[in-house]
Amino acid sequence: MEQPSSSVRVRFAPSPTGQVHIGNIRTAIFNWLFARGHGGKFLVRVEDTDRERSTPEAIRVLFEVMEWLGLDFDEDPVYQSACVSRHKQVAEDLIARGLAYKSDKGASGMGEAILFRMPKEDVRFTDLIKGEIAKPGDSLQDFVIVRSDGTPVFHLANVVDDIDMGITHVIRGDDHVENTFRHIRLYQALGAPLPQFGHLPMIVNHQGKPYSKRDGAAFVGEFRDTGYLPDALFNFLSLLGWNPGDDREYMPREELVAAFDLARVQSSPAQMDLKKLSWMNGCYMADLPIALFREEAIRRLQAEGLVDAATDAAYVEAVLELIRSRVKVWPELIELAVYFFREDYPFDAKAVRKRLLKPGVSELLDRLREGYAGLSEWSESALDEALRSALGADQENAGTLIHPVRVAVSGQAGGPGLFEMLQVLGRDRVLTRLERGSRIAAGTLTVGE
Ligand code: GLU
Repeated sequence: MEQPSSSVRVRFAPSPTGQVHIGNIRTAIFNWLFARGHGGKFLVRVEDTDRERSTPEAIRVLFEVMEWLGLDFDEDPVYQSACVSRHKQVAEDLIARGLAYKSDKGASGMGEAILFRMPKEDVRFTDLIKGEIAKPGDSLQDFVIVRSDGTPVFHLANVVDDIDMGITHVIRGDDHVENTFRHIRLYQALGAPLPQFGHLPMIVNHQGKPYSKRDGAAFVGEFRDTGYLPDALFNFLSLLGWNPGDDREYMPREELVAAFDLARVQSSPAQMDLKKLSWMNGCYMADLPIALFREEAIRRLQAEGLVDAATDAAYVEAVLELIRSRVKVWPELIELAVYFFREDYPFDAKAVRKRLLKPGVSELLDRLREGYAGLSEWSESALDEALRSALGADQENAGTLIHPVRVAVSGQAGGPGLFEMLQVLGRDRVLTRLERGSRIAAGTLTVGE
């Protein structure tokens, strides 16, 4: 049965290992969206019982990543390692009630594992995402809940903590389906109401295999350090296994909260698509307040040595305005900006071959340079007009000059509108570069090899 909305209590229960995989954070996001959409509570439980991997540093990284993504949580986080005596007590109670036993039956000495007596009847449950799931009783076996060294096993700790935290919906990866059969029996043995379970589809690569670091960036920190925006990554991950039922993809957070629904989570694997993430990031880049964009862009240009205190601020401003809409992901800024700030910008060898190394191009560029040198007004329309007159009789084929000019002044095959770009670059840079372009076209100067 659906819980009354205000009673919804979900949790994100990671086992920190140092880096946070996007699959794990996607689980956190789905729980967060579910809680926020139902006016419920989103809790965090750090499953830190593996003391070797769950170092303070790994835990710090976990919370840092959550904060970066805006995954705020309610109540203090629960640390599983602090609940060990409670877990052991529960195991002892189960023994006292005949529902668990020590591995060496009847022996009371230390050093014995504790096993849960798994009832041998079929277990079935209705998964919120996968529907009816069942496991036949004859395939079920007793299982260890406390190891012989006295440490509680995941199954016991996980269930006891979920009960103690009053969790109503356990939403986690579908690698846990097998565990859930056991967990259901533990809940029942402990006399606790069953939460609802929802198992999220795996994230896979283009071959349908689990997405891993071999396929590309797989950890949240990598996306952050590359320069993806947290809201874009959040939006993108929300759509890995869920969709709003219409064709919306770019969905700011409030929209996601309003639309999110476990019933629309797919049960089939969700394919990771980095191109889509890049597109999504571009949407959020376009939304960035201009002041924020400018500040971060200048920081990056300075770090790259393209801009310093002496660079004309109005020029920087004009360049940023021109290229802003093309910066989909921060690292692209440098490639898009480099030729505005340096004369030794790189030349795309293919563009040079295709556009500059052609008969007649050198002469055309010379003719254009003369036209541009004599312009009384350095405006887009004047630049456009002068280019057309340099074409002479060949007005039909403006491309025969437009493309070479672009390659000459930027080194690249694509970019902002040519005349806007020339206008921003200014006369001195353009004349120098056309002259150099003409030499490249004539074969007297070699670049881009
Ligand atoms: N620590 C487990 C994991 O990260 C928790 C699973 C759960 O959410 O119950 O896979």
